[in-house]
Amino acid sequence: EKNTGYLAQFYKKSQTERIQALIQAGFLEKEKQDAFDDQLAISLDIANGMIENQIATYQLPFGIATNFLIDGKDYVIPMAIEEPSVIAAASSAAKLVAQYGGFQTAVTDRLMIGQVILTDVPHLSEAIAILHDNEIEIIQAANQAHPSIVKRGGGADGIRIREIAEDLTVGSPSFLIIHLHVETLEAMGANIINTMMEAIIPMLENLTNGNALMGILSNYATECLATATCRLPVSALAKDNWSGVEVRDRLILAAQVATVDPYRAVTHNKGIMNGIDAIVLASGNDWRAIEAGAHAYASRSGQYRSLSSWRKADNGDLIGELTLPLSIGTVGGSISFHPGAQMAHHLLGNPDAETLEAIIASVGLAQNFSALRALVTEGIQQGHMGLHARSLAISAGASREEIDQVATQLKTVKNMNLATAKEILKNIQK
Ligand code: NDP
Repeated sequence: EKNTGYLAQFYKKSQTERIQALIQAGFLEKEKQDAFDDQLAISLDIANGMIENQIATYQLPFGIATNFLIDGKDYVIPMAIEEPSVIAAASSAAKLVAQYGGFQTAVTDRLMIGQVILTDVPHLSEAIAILHDNEIEIIQAANQAHPSIVKRGGGADGIRIREIAEDLTVGSPSFLIIHLHVETLEAMGANIINTMMEAIIPMLENLTNGNALMGILSNYATECLATATCRLPVSALAKDNWSGVEVRDRLILAAQVATVDPYRAVTHNKGIMNGIDAIVLASGNDWRAIEAGAHAYASRSGQYRSLSSWRKADNGDLIGELTLPLSIGTVGGSISFHPGAQMAHHLLGNPDAETLEAIIASVGLAQNFSALRALVTEGIQQGHMGLHARSLAISAGASREEIDQVATQLKTVKNMNLATAKEILKNIQK
């Protein structure tokens, strides 16, 4: 039903042509295009209602990564991001992966976690036994606090009890922590869960004779994971003077060093999050929650490691895999009234939350592939600086007509920096 042929050479089109191409390709309904007239802006009234002490709105470019084939379906990826080259890198990786079957994904059930943290519990093992005996009552109390989510088919459906021992090295006492697993359906669920956790505090205090310190969602969403994989033959990997086998083996080494060296792992994962944050933000989701959860998940072994892995298949193909917690939603927060978020969901075909997770994980893997392939071959700067040239031209004060001219000249000089951009601009304006 999608005609992606219309999106060919998307980057060479004007903004108006891109919007028309999205309509022709079947990703954007014609009736929705008016939303672009005012740049998908939120009104000052809405902005004022969203946060405290609001005085203006802060904009980011909203762009489209093309060529994504995920579980057999074509997608365009809306991205809100200030960094050049992220969209180009995602699109080029996706183009290659699409030629070999696209991304395959898997998601776990979407269970979000809430915590009540108890201190000063006098008889720990007794309290734990009592909590287990009262599991059904605890779940019922939580669900009564937010009946509408139960009506929709979700709600709390299990507890887990964790005992954190006293830790004299930091002077911390023991804690008894009760986790509630909650199906929040299409919502990320922070507010649903916070309401539930606060509601069950008195009951938990009564049952354990402990003191509740707090009740809140955990952003370490280990029960809401998404995985994307892709597979490429070595024949697809050759680049410049590097053979496909060399690129494959160097890329695998690059993933290995990011597994064993935290200094490399952080940058490796930052590259993954370049794409993930951009779609999470565009889709109106809470990117701080996703960031916090992702980096904690990268440390689950006790050491901070790569979120992705790249390995050699028996037949020599390169296989990439990325798993991370993705507590995103398709409703809730500002999603239902932010015109940019609305447009992002529309362009994605209004996926449900599980599908959106699958898409986001695929974007992260695409981003990772592009970064690693560039790093282990020509280096990241060649491609990046080419795109950065336009940003430098803008910073130097180039007008709309002058940007391309300055950028083209900048790419030919050895020292591509702001001073040189200004010099080039001065010469052009002479
Ligand atoms: P909302 O509070 O907006 O709740 C979503 C609501 O959408 C539900 O309560 C439900 O209300 C309604 N809804 C409609 N259709 C569905 C459906 N199919 N599935 C589920 N719900 C549906 O959003 P969240 O609870 O998701 O909270 C997200 C927000 O909380 C984000 O803005 C986040 O930034 C913020 N937040 C994050 C925190 C954190 O990460 N630690 C802490 C606190 C807040 P009903 O059933 O009543 O109609």
